[in-house]
Amino acid sequence: MERLQKILAQAGVASRRKCEDLIVAGKVEVNGETVTTLGTKADPDQDIITVNGKPIRNEKKVYIVMNKPKGVITSASDPEGRKIVSDYLRDVKERVYPVGRLDYDTEGLIILTNDGEFANLLTHPKHHVPKTYMAIVKGVPHGDDLDKLRAGIKLEDGMTAPAEVEYKDIDTAKNEATISITIYEGRNRQVRRMFEAISHPVIKLKRIAFGDLLLHNLKRGLFRHLTKDEIEDLL
Ligand code: URA
Repeated sequence: MERLQKILAQAGVASRRKCEDLIVAGKVEVNGETVTTLGTKADPDQDIITVNGKPIRNEKKVYIVMNKPKGVITSASDPEGRKIVSDYLRDVKERVYPVGRLDYDTEGLIILTNDGEFANLLTHPKHHVPKTYMAIVKGVPHGDDLDKLRAGIKLEDGMTAPAEVEYKDIDTAKNEATISITIYEGRNRQVRRMFEAISHPVIKLKRIAFGDLLLHNLKRGLFRHLTKDEIEDLL
């Protein structure tokens, strides 16, 4: 027996949080009875569970890593008709959704899955999954500036947690620096805002690692399925 919201999230209905909302809103039935109490348990293999009257599917779980190009949005649809990540997932029949987000202008590693529980675990703030980015920034920040990022810097939405920051390259001719930064949070436009806070705006941003998973040589716009070990290592 498992908690209903967990069963729903695992079936790919939505994130666990959203599934809780569906339960409270009276949209979920177990064996024909509406359940609105959050701790309720059910048996995913025996009970007939429906959301809005439709049985949940025990769809095969898929876990994908993709190298998102710049100029693509990380969401399920775009009213303006811009390219979305799922446009790149040819041959993937399951409806997957991104684990966290990358900005339209950011490229690099994004995980996509239909396993709501997995997505929830990786994005939950208390899990502090490290995410590493290569940032090309305007100007060459001083060591003191990078120390501010390492210590945690004040943004509009509060102090950031300490980050790991390293120079990778300095191009004096172009007046740019390449810096690797690892953050343990996932706030909106966080890396861009951190560099703005030290007056070295980001020119180009690429995510190269998420937890133990590395982007490696996955080509821009391509994707692959994660191995069982990679999935386990992420959890
Ligand atoms: N930080 C950003 O500023 N943008 C991203 O896409 C990811 C992290």
